[in-house]
Amino acid sequence: MKVIKNKNISHTGSKEYLISFLKQHHLSVTEPRIKILKLFQNCGSALENSLIEKKTRHQLNRITVYRTLQSFLKSGIIHSIPSYDDSIRFALCKRDCDEHAHHDNHPHFICEKCGETICLNKTGISIIQLPKGYNVHRTDAIITGICNICKAAKMIKQIEK
Ligand SMILES: [Zn+2]
Ligand SMILES: [Zn+2]
Ligand SMILES: [Zn+2]
Repeated sequence: MKVIKNKNISHTGSKEYLISFLKQHHLSVTEPRIKILKLFQNCGSALENSLIEKKTRHQLNRITVYRTLQSFLKSGIIHSIPSYDDSIRFALCKRDCDEHAHHDNHPHFICEKCGETICLNKTGISIIQLPKGYNVHRTDAIITGICNICKAAKMIKQIEK
């Protein structure tokens, strides 16, 4: 029998997929983990902590949400995104992150219009030359501006005028 190794064999939103995804990251399968993972799978960009709490408030308490997010962070499923304000945002990691290390070395774009935070996965962060004697553990970059979707919407509006 041929063994199918493709990770994406089932639809990414299906429960089977979510269960296998958790197992791949060596996490036991629990309802809160499935619920929160599904939120991330369904959303294309970053999720704010308060929004996760809001969307799950009828099923999960805040401590459970917090613990679930911490386990996802540790397992290389999600990464946290720096922000200018006090908001805490997370986004799904790419495949190469695991429980040993994160490799989310990409800038994040915050749209001033729609407020979305987008991982710019294909863009690297150029390393800043540091003075002698410093060790870099992490480099963050936040870029603000107008995202491609909002820009396209504005152009359509102008054409319609
Ligand atoms: Zn990561
Ligand atoms: Zn936008
Ligand atoms: Zn990111």
